[in-house]
Amino acid sequence: MKLSQVDRISLDLSNFCTKACDFCYNNSSSSGLNMWKTNEVIELALDCSINGVKAFSFGGGEPFEYKGIFEIISALTPHLFVSVTSNGLPLYQDEIFSLLIKNRPDKIHLTIHNPSNKKEVSETIKMLKRISRYDIRIGINLFISSHQIAEAKQLTQKLYAIGFSEKNIIFVPRKFDLVPTAKEVAEVASRINFQSTSCLTNCSPSKEFCSISWDKKVGFCSFSPSKAPLEKYNYQSIMEALNSITFKTCLP
Ligand code: SF4
Ligand code: SF4
Repeated sequence: MKLSQVDRISLDLSNFCTKACDFCYNNSSSSGLNMWKTNEVIELALDCSINGVKAFSFGGGEPFEYKGIFEIISALTPHLFVSVTSNGLPLYQDEIFSLLIKNRPDKIHLTIHNPSNKKEVSETIKMLKRISRYDIRIGINLFISSHQIAEAKQLTQKLYAIGFSEKNIIFVPRKFDLVPTAKEVAEVASRINFQSTSCLTNCSPSKEFCSISWDKKVGFCSFSPSKAPLEKYNYQSIMEALNSITFKTCLP
């Protein structure tokens, strides 16, 4: 498949994250590395914007533990839709939260990994409400593992009851182990239309989206093992990398 245009790009800024979940797909931990320099990210994203890319989403590692995140947000928001996916924990530091308010992305998604963990759930909801007061759109990434379907379903009902909707929850199926079926994800969402990974029922490379890893490799999604190195910090190099890939699935 030859691609001529992507319009959304997700970039993992590092694989540094002090939460260090044992299921993290890019093995982020407190000994993780930062390979991206702030100016390289900005150079790449601005060139993408000139070439028609509409949105950049930043993940990690934990993006709010990446030193240059606010410089990146500030440089890019005049040009692109910028979203950040975070575990939310660094935002409890007053200094980080006040930098966020001065350098606001268009949207923040906070992830709930464990629907049974009352503290994680209540603090994430509280933080999302706090963020939304500053004119930043909010969303929840609800991580779904096959051993916690009932708990995830119960939490989803609670989220609907307090004003979240299927429009601001993304139901993210766990990968590699404890993988829920598409039917289980739909059961958790319990709505006809809901947001999840585009490949919930069928693995295929996206035609509009690509992912760039913490170690500067380009792929059709974050999980596919087929990736190609990014040679230069520009849009053309992304397209050359994508078009050199023979897509492989992450499924066993
Ligand atoms: S919070 Fe996210 S980035 Fe950090 S270790 Fe867990 S899954 Fe990975
Ligand atoms: S490789 Fe995995 S994550 Fe990517 S599209 Fe296929 S099933 Fe989905």
